[in-house]
Amino acid sequence: MTAQRTEGSASRLAMLGGGRAVPKGLRIAPWPMVTEQDQQAVLRSLASGRFTTASSGEREIPGLESAWAEQVGTRHCVMVNNGTAAISLALGALGLQPGDEVIVPALSFIATAAAPLHLLAVPVFVDIDPTTFNLDPAAVEAAITPRTRAVVVVHLHGLPAEMDEINAIARRHGLAVVEDAAQAHGAEYRGRGVGSIGAINTFSLNVSKNLATCGEGGLITTDDDELATRATMLRQFGELIPEQGERSYVSHFLGWNNKPSALQAAFTRSQLERFPDEAKQRDQNVRALLDRVAPLPGLLQPEVPADRTHAWHILRFRVDPQAFGLDDRFAGPLRATVQRALRAEGVAAAPYQLMPLPAQRVFRERQGFGGYPWALPGVPDRPYREQDFPATLRVLDDSFAIQKAHLHPEAGPLLQRYADAFEKVWEQRDEIARFARSMPYTPLWEQAARAAENEWAQAFAPADGD
Ligand SMILES: *Cc1c(COP(=O)(O)O)cnc(C)c1O
Repeated sequence: MTAQRTEGSASRLAMLGGGRAVPKGLRIAPWPMVTEQDQQAVLRSLASGRFTTASSGEREIPGLESAWAEQVGTRHCVMVNNGTAAISLALGALGLQPGDEVIVPALSFIATAAAPLHLLAVPVFVDIDPTTFNLDPAAVEAAITPRTRAVVVVHLHGLPAEMDEINAIARRHGLAVVEDAAQAHGAEYRGRGVGSIGAINTFSLNVSKNLATCGEGGLITTDDDELATRATMLRQFGELIPEQGERSYVSHFLGWNNKPSALQAAFTRSQLERFPDEAKQRDQNVRALLDRVAPLPGLLQPEVPADRTHAWHILRFRVDPQAFGLDDRFAGPLRATVQRALRAEGVAAAPYQLMPLPAQRVFRERQGFGGYPWALPGVPDRPYREQDFPATLRVLDDSFAIQKAHLHPEAGPLLQRYADAFEKVWEQRDEIARFARSMPYTPLWEQAARAAENEWAQAFAPADGD
């Protein structure tokens, strides 16, 4: 099973003083990759003297918008200044009102749930499917109330969610579906590109994402002419800027200033030319890693149902304590031990999210907006309860993630050394199990909650406190 590496007794775990499986000199390649062509694109934009959507004759932003609409398969794309704003504007275009409820997954990046809140809408959290890490459609349906207006569906880590089931539920209940595709650029679900399946959908171009800009950016995609117009106005104080002729400077409704920068559009346009090739190469590199670790007992790798593709933004692995001769209580300690052993070998393994989103202080303490929207009459309180999110908690406890290391198209050799490291750690399963059984363990979310309270107390402690 582990024929590729036959070092016998030389395979002492790095955690216990042995040599590393991943050589120290083999570094994670920087992401996003910046080529000569990217630099030229930004310089061209700089030389144009036109820097935002309000600069008459600016071509980079509309150029990126039409290229991305074509890539995704929608009639419209609207660029904004970040992915969080993209979600808020998508919800704003749908006409959400204060106190409206928006269903969001309990496992995601904070932005998914902060965006509705920025409109004074109430994020209502639902549990995930522990195999796809995406919204569980049954949990979505169970969370619907007469106040529900929309569902923000996240394609977590790059795997498309159960869109047909969720769209069907939404249709039955008259809800709008927004895809948060910040982690899933280019992924396909039943032959359709993500970002073309919900009513109005969003992407992030943050430097950490699979399609990046040189800083912050976001994209909104939709087939609906009216939603596209509203989103365009929302990024510009509710104003309509004509393609030609004089501006009216009329704010028709409450908007924000979420205009993107032309330099950032130029950079991403240049990145987009390489994007399909890079995505294909990434897919090969990741699959080669997954093929090698597939035989390891008790290592559950990301699942990709046959009807969709995975953008591989993040690789999340779960561990099954039974395969290590441990009972379920040791899922967390086992994950912590495996993660520590892999890190010592040189694998950039780390948790992604330390707690369910609803456990974040922002949603529990409700600091900001004077406690609204929860303070509005008729808005249910819904305090956070661990028992509402068993799958999210279980996945946080028993899984770790690889981020960034695999994004560069030339990450293949590094990922092969990662495979060596997994095999080496798995050869020492007994040792790992012994460790896991005897270590003191506090769940991530409890550690994080304690750390958060200390951080808050220290940030606002009197300066002469001690
Ligand atoms: C990154 C991310 C966002 C937000 O994007 P920003 O551009 O960082 O504001 C939203 N949702 C998910 C799932 C993300 O990963």
